[in-house]
Amino acid sequence: MENKESFIPYVGKIIDIKQETPDVKTFSVVGLDGKKLFEHIPGQCAMLIVPGVGESMISITSSPTLETHMEFSIKKCGCVTEWLHNAEVGQEICVRGPIGNGFPVEGALKGKDILVIAGGIGIAPVHSVVNYMMDKRENYGRIQVIYGSRSMADLVRLEEMQNVWMKQP
Ligand SMILES: Cc1cc2nc3c(=O)[nH]c(=O)nc-3n(C[C@H](O)[C@H](O)[C@H](O)COP(=O)(O)OP(=O)(O)OC[C@H]3O[C@@H](n4cnc5c(N)ncnc54)[C@H](O)[C@@H]3O)c2cc1C
Repeated sequence: MENKESFIPYVGKIIDIKQETPDVKTFSVVGLDGKKLFEHIPGQCAMLIVPGVGESMISITSSPTLETHMEFSIKKCGCVTEWLHNAEVGQEICVRGPIGNGFPVEGALKGKDILVIAGGIGIAPVHSVVNYMMDKRENYGRIQVIYGSRSMADLVRLEEMQNVWMKQP
């Protein structure tokens, strides 16, 4: 849930960059102390701020159950996202969040069968939800994911879906 802290921009450092598709990269970010910047609810976003360039609203694609860092899967489409795609590991950026309500994973969704439908980079916010449910598997019924994109090469995080998600009960 959005709170007072979400108005404070923190300085984060990019510790890993993974090319997912021709125009999507996943950035792993920690605070300058090496710890996770803040806690969030699956589906919440953060404002990634690049002083002198601009700011972009980006979903926190990692689950809150990932304790070490946060991940952002970002599609290159304009000013800020292109700047981020040209950034290297070690680059510092400002991050403000969490923003938005997220999904009620500890409320209305608990105990239910879940159907997740997403396309292309739209997987980013629900990726966090699926991984959260995987880590707390006993709290949910059947979990199904329908995911598409305009081409096979544009499926974001396909490897994880095939090697981790599809092997879960
Ligand atoms: C709640 C939320 C969550 C989001 N989560 C994600 C996420 O997880 N990952 C992700 O990749 N994206 C996400 N987005 C989208 C992301 O915020 C935008 O893609 C990003 O802010 C674009 O910023 P930019 O500066 O790179 O692009 P901009 O420079 O703002 O350009 C964006 C697009 O608009 C076009 N454009 C810009 N100005 C004009 C103009 N004057 N006329 C015509 N066209 C123009 C550009 O050519 C480009 O195609 C999310 C958005 C929201 C609202």
